[in-house]
Amino acid sequence: MNFDYKPLANYSLEDRNTLGFEVVAEWVLPITQAEQIPAAIRWAKNAGLSHRVLGGGSNVVLPDQLQGVTLLMDIDFIEILENRDSNTRLRVGAGVNWHDFVGWTLDQNYRGLENLALIPGTVGAAPIQNIGAYGVEVKEYIDAVEAYDCQTNQWVSLSKADCQFSYRHSVFKDERNRFVITAVIFNLPKVWQPRLSYADLTNHFANRSVDAITAPEIFEAVCAIRTQKLPDPKVIGNVGSFFQNPVISNQQLQILKEHFPQMVSYPESATHSKLAAGWLIDQCGFKGMQLGNVGVHDKQALVLTHRGGGNAGELLGLAEQIQKRVKETFGVELVVEPILFT
Ligand code: FAD
Ligand code: NAP
Repeated sequence: MNFDYKPLANYSLEDRNTLGFEVVAEWVLPITQAEQIPAAIRWAKNAGLSHRVLGGGSNVVLPDQLQGVTLLMDIDFIEILENRDSNTRLRVGAGVNWHDFVGWTLDQNYRGLENLALIPGTVGAAPIQNIGAYGVEVKEYIDAVEAYDCQTNQWVSLSKADCQFSYRHSVFKDERNRFVITAVIFNLPKVWQPRLSYADLTNHFANRSVDAITAPEIFEAVCAIRTQKLPDPKVIGNVGSFFQNPVISNQQLQILKEHFPQMVSYPESATHSKLAAGWLIDQCGFKGMQLGNVGVHDKQALVLTHRGGGNAGELLGLAEQIQKRVKETFGVELVVEPILFT
């Protein structure tokens, strides 16, 4: 093997998954430089082992025993490619902490990412589900994604179009484990406007003139709101939203609203609307519920929690109960958002 270090056997990932499950990986390979990846993939293939990539572990549900080779993405750099009057282009290593990166951009007076503050995890994982919050999606600021293609054994640069971004989705979710993302190229335009359409942000800045609101203030507001509403994974294990918000046709919405006039929905396109999955779960009586070592967060029913001693099986059992009840009550399918590793 071409490494100057050996894969680590029987490695605990308890500190590398925000659910805090006690997980042991058969093999792990910390990746600090992109150049290590081809040899790592070759090693896995030659050993007849599957491989997968782990960033911060904030959007995965891991089994007790994780077979095969797990690459731990620790590539850490930020490079300014261009800084012009119109825009700034940045190349950022996949292992950089997302929230720290957002804070760094604001320190440099590069605006745009402030609504995405305090999302746990790494820069390399941001394109996977096209992370979004408070009306902003990361795809708006991504120019390209650099990756190693494990199918063709080639380095590739995927354009924004190649990434096929959509609501909490991308090509990387469809082609699981094909691409190991090593860096993301961001384009941050200098023209900027505050994005305050979500009620929590609107209310936060209710007494302010929009023209006077700055990006760092929005960053601080998002951090304060999220800290109040979401469980801190360091204290209560969770992976954020456990289900995606269902997108349904406007006809289906109309029928549902006849039965449930209070149902929360938002237009998604001319023909479809988005339902707030948290509202559906709350209506089914799950909010704040505890079932053994796992539960449903009392301030946001979309977040499932783990308070120690539990595992993936227990959490997925609760998730299934929720899916079944929501389907029975509203006829709507809830799709699990985090990636389930096997
Ligand atoms: P991981 O959990 O390690 O991995 C997630 C998936 O990406 C896996 O399939 C993994 O194989 C793949 N992956 C990771 N890195 C790479 C790479 N370099 N190359 C190829 N594949 C890779 N998400 C939102 O969209 N919006 C939010 O507001 C939000 N809030 C959250 C709040 C909390 C409290 C928590 C716990 C989670 C939240 N999330 C949110 C989910 C999560 O933070 C994001 O999806 C984040 O991008 C995951 O990053 P990660 O590095 O932890 O990825
Ligand atoms: P919230 O503001 O209470 O809103 C509840 C739901 O309604 C959200 O899912 C959101 O959809 C939708 N919504 C609210 N206002 C909207 C608007 N003006 N236009 C369109 N949709 C609207 O949600 P929250 O739980 O406090 O979370 C705040 C933001 O952080 C949300 O964007 C949420 O997605 C994000 N977040 C994501 C995760 C995750 O793991 N994916 C975890 C925590 C928070 P959207 O989800 O589509 O925005």
